[in-house]
Amino acid sequence: MKMKNFTIKETHGKARTGVMKTAQNEFETPVFLPVSTKAAAKYLSSKDLEKIGAKAIISNSFLLYLKPGMEVLKKQEIHEFMNYSGTVFTDCGGFQKLRSMFKGMSKKGIHFRSPYDGSKHVITPKKIINVQNTLGSNVAMSLDDCSPYGSSIEETKEAMERTHKWAKESLEEFSKLKDEGSKMQLFGICQGGFFEETRKKSCRFIDELTVNGTNFDGIAIGGLRIGEPAKLMNKMVKVSTEILTEEKPKYLMGVGNPADIITSVQEGVDVFDSIYPVENARHGNIFTTEGKIDIEKSKYQFDFKPLDPNCDCFVCQNYTRAYIHHLFKTDEPLAKMLAVYHNQYFMQRFMEKIRTAIKEGELDKMKERTVKQYKTP
Ligand SMILES: [Zn+2]
Repeated sequence: MKMKNFTIKETHGKARTGVMKTAQNEFETPVFLPVSTKAAAKYLSSKDLEKIGAKAIISNSFLLYLKPGMEVLKKQEIHEFMNYSGTVFTDCGGFQKLRSMFKGMSKKGIHFRSPYDGSKHVITPKKIINVQNTLGSNVAMSLDDCSPYGSSIEETKEAMERTHKWAKESLEEFSKLKDEGSKMQLFGICQGGFFEETRKKSCRFIDELTVNGTNFDGIAIGGLRIGEPAKLMNKMVKVSTEILTEEKPKYLMGVGNPADIITSVQEGVDVFDSIYPVENARHGNIFTTEGKIDIEKSKYQFDFKPLDPNCDCFVCQNYTRAYIHHLFKTDEPLAKMLAVYHNQYFMQRFMEKIRTAIKEGELDKMKERTVKQYKTP
């Protein structure tokens, strides 16, 4: 009998709490995945990730395929390699189209040049599914073609059609792997740019797609938060979630601002990932229960309170704002380590609070407060 991968627990409007099960573990949703692109979260060890309660992370299969390479990952799969006990999601490399290593598209797949040694690579749907399976991914992504913000309707349609074709090829390969006993799950990625028509079409297609009796275990909403205003992103999330099946987990890729997260949770999104908390921490922007603070401001020079007096993380228990202000001012590597640890811990607690708020029917109130504190243009 097929194990149920996702169970919805409580709902409040369209928001829901749930439990997602993978071959590795199970965890509650809505969940935030710390980004560990190359099998490492920036400034955090895998043991730190476990300590802050991160039961799932996301890594990038294409970048891991380049380095350390499959010869290493065949011998030791990712959990063992980085010594992490939680679920590993892996992205497929489609997003790297927006990066400088991208060299072009063909019918076959996406062409890249390795940033490490200049070698040429073609990523095809079939190839990247197998890479993800071999490296031990628990939740893989099907290869997508992400159109940049500002693309025309024609360009968007072309990328969408390619994404759909690749989704079919991915499911075909995935059904074979499942027959061979693979326990990996596969999410399909919807694209469709910033036009309602194409977004809807893509969500419907990916949601309904079945090949050899196999369909996607979850649906990822891709191609958002790539330069568009928050309002437009929220609209696209709403358009997408209205179409997607209730029963499957919905994953909004690349979104990590607390205001965006809670707004999307209200639309029924279950999974998030983003470098946002890390990027903020690196620049001294600390997330607190009272909003964001810039620890480099001179007013913190004599502030001997913790970063967030309401936080019980290792950093807030041991260090003051004045000390961390000093570390930033003197460019000590420890500054970023402590700031990242706190922000990532904050995100895990923030998701816990969201889950509690859904259970207790308090999500609207929490949203109002969060949007006030964390809203971005
Ligand atoms: Zn803290």
